[in-house]
Amino acid sequence: MADYELAIIGGGLNGVSLARDAADRGLRVILFEQGDLGGAASSATPRLIHGDLSVLERRGFWRVRRALAERRTWLSIAPHVVRPMRFVIPARSDERPPWLLRAGLYVYDGLTNRGGLPQSTTLDITHHPVGDALKRPFGTAFEYSDCVVDDSRLVVLTALDAAERGAAIRTGARCVRADRTDTWRLAVVDRGIRRTISARALANATGGWTAMVADTVLRQPQPAMAAMQMSQIVVPKLFESDNVYVFQNNDGRLIFARPFERDFTLIGMVTHAFTGDPAIVAMPGADVSYLCDAASRYFRERVALTDVVRTVSGVNLTLASARGRDGTALFHARRRKAPLITMFGGDVTTSRRRAERAVTKLTPFYPMSPPWTAGAALPGGDFAWDRFDTEVDRARERWRFLSEPEAQRLVGAYGSRLSAVLGEARTREELGPAFGPELTGAEVRYLMAREWARFPDDVLWRRSKLGLTMPAADRDALTAFMAGESVSSRPG
Ligand SMILES: Cc1cc2nc3c(=O)[nH]c(=O)nc-3n(C[C@H](O)[C@H](O)[C@H](O)COP(=O)(O)OP(=O)(O)OC[C@H]3O[C@@H](n4cnc5c(N)ncnc54)[C@H](O)[C@@H]3O)c2cc1C
Repeated sequence: MADYELAIIGGGLNGVSLARDAADRGLRVILFEQGDLGGAASSATPRLIHGDLSVLERRGFWRVRRALAERRTWLSIAPHVVRPMRFVIPARSDERPPWLLRAGLYVYDGLTNRGGLPQSTTLDITHHPVGDALKRPFGTAFEYSDCVVDDSRLVVLTALDAAERGAAIRTGARCVRADRTDTWRLAVVDRGIRRTISARALANATGGWTAMVADTVLRQPQPAMAAMQMSQIVVPKLFESDNVYVFQNNDGRLIFARPFERDFTLIGMVTHAFTGDPAIVAMPGADVSYLCDAASRYFRERVALTDVVRTVSGVNLTLASARGRDGTALFHARRRKAPLITMFGGDVTTSRRRAERAVTKLTPFYPMSPPWTAGAALPGGDFAWDRFDTEVDRARERWRFLSEPEAQRLVGAYGSRLSAVLGEARTREELGPAFGPELTGAEVRYLMAREWARFPDDVLWRRSKLGLTMPAADRDALTAFMAGESVSSRPG
């Protein structure tokens, strides 16, 4: 008998979504991630949960409808990391005409059961806070509802749910060889130790590495794939209003600017073909300039290259025959050969559903319970999305030392599980050493014990974005603290 029914290579959003789905359908699951969960493309997404207006423009009505149905699902199962927001498109006379935008949003509203989100509307932004940060010529804007997401926390919470439902999650574990007969035999270098395991089915969810892994690790034929890089920039906060701007740049590309971690703005995105090693993805200078120029076209405050505090880039693959963001789950099974799922690309919005469909393909091979992931909250997400502020108030009542912004961040990250992080602490000092103004020893310990954090970057850039504001001295102290904590026992 094989050790596992399903082995998954890759701990990005696609891999952990497969693990979560399969774990509670009765399969014994193991997932191997060579670095940190969400350490590659899955923490470089545009961080939007949306139907995507640009798809509507290409008449992808059904695709938009499906994505908007998923938006509703995310709001109900992950109300801490997925938050509704108003999106604003300022109208310019030299861009898409207002009647077209109005008609598009009318269709967008009609394609979804909004589930309590307000419908689209027209704003006079000459006298509206939304217009304050923008250049003068804008008089009218169109406002509609969509959602934003903390992508890397979504990955970790999905992995956590998978683990709590029985999946084994191994980070720092690189799959170096997989042999296919009627089962798969995998050789894995797991934190320096070579192990072999067997599994009845295998999923290759290695994002930008998919073709390379298929070729050199699995030695299985694959259709031609194209690597694509997407990039964004982070700059100091450009606007006070709590909304996402969608600009129709003069080349027709939609550019967004959204609030990012309280004091910053995230501007994206540029997508183009990529060649090279997906582990080394640098944003080309021309792309940084492009996004600065695009933002400067709309905001009063000019965005200069020197304002860019961080670039965010990721690489994933698409089928060469169908370049797009739909994402692909290929299924391959032959007589006397164990099944292989290859899942890559795709957006965050539809990841849960694509994993569900991919796992369902294994139904002829095992007795499996029906799909379930749409109806079960992710860890900490067991409250209604419109009760987020109430959760924040409750947290501040219970842990009186928390400021409003701190409580917002903590509830946004841990939801109803915040007590597992802060425990019975009555003062900040009881939470252990402080690293910068917000991070405490208690939170770091929790992340190491429960969420697979091993190194400072895992905490500062993926479990949070506190790396944006943490002084170097505090970072050094965090490095020493984490090195001193035992990492020998790991979750999952
Ligand atoms: C051009 C483009 C545009 C996109 N646009 C959007 C968008 O508009 N909206 C949106 O939401 N998303 C978008 N995305 C999708 C998104 O960025 C990711 O594709 C998505 O998060 C899924 O990632 P993944 O799990 O496939 O890959 P990744 O997150 O890259 O994960 C793959 C993981 O596999 C691991 N791995 C590789 N080899 C091995 C090995 N041998 N052993 C163990 N582990 C291994 C890597 O370390 C990595 O962590 C876009 C993607 C592309 C390419």
